[in-house]
This record gives sequence, C-alpha cells and structure tokens, in this order.
Amino acid sequence: MGKSLGIIHFEDDTLMFTWYQNTADVMHDILRPTIENYRDIPYEESECTCGKDESVQMGTDYGGGYWWEGRACRHCLRVTKGHMPIEAVVEWDGYPEWWPEKYRW
Ligand SMILES: [Zn+2]
Repeated sequence: MGKSLGIIHFEDDTLMFTWYQNTADVMHDILRPTIENYRDIPYEESECTCGKDESVQMGTDYGGGYWWEGRACRHCLRVTKGHMPIEAVVEWDGYPEWWPEKYRW
C-alpha cells in the first residue's frame, strides 16, 4: 500500500495534513494540523459530528501532484466529502498555489 502526502486547504489558508492512499486513490479521512509523521495517522471509526464542515481543496504529491475539491471539518479533523478525486467535479494536475514549495518534488 502506497502512502503519499495529502494536504487539505481551507478557504482561510489553513492547511491540514494526512496521507493519500495512492494505489486505491483515496484521501485518508483523519487530519492533523502539522505534517510530522503524517504517514502514521491511524484508521479510526469516527466522523464529523458538529456539522461545521467547510468547502476545501485537497491534493496529493503523488504522480507529480493533483488536486480537487471536497469538504472537511477543522473541528473534528475529518475529511467529510470528496475523498476520491474520481468523485470530484473538477480535478487539476500539478500543484495548486497554496501547496507549500518545500513539499513539492
Ligand atoms: Zn465537525
């Protein structure tokens, strides 16, 4: 199973981090506010319960980078919609403007 970096971008420029499962093409749904040890974020049976999820953009560095739109909750630290880029209305190749330069390769 391949884990690539996943970054979630909120509209106020807050970034959150997780891993992207690059063989199944699915963003892991548990977020952290820092990038450290992002590959170790475990599976958990939980979800957003506050109803305050927001429109976000999310992307991965896999395959030279691609990104798409979905929803996530910064309070519950969860992706709530759009885990799979194939479900997105639009998907873009490369890195978005908000993707930190130091995490491009
Ligand atoms: Zn929530």
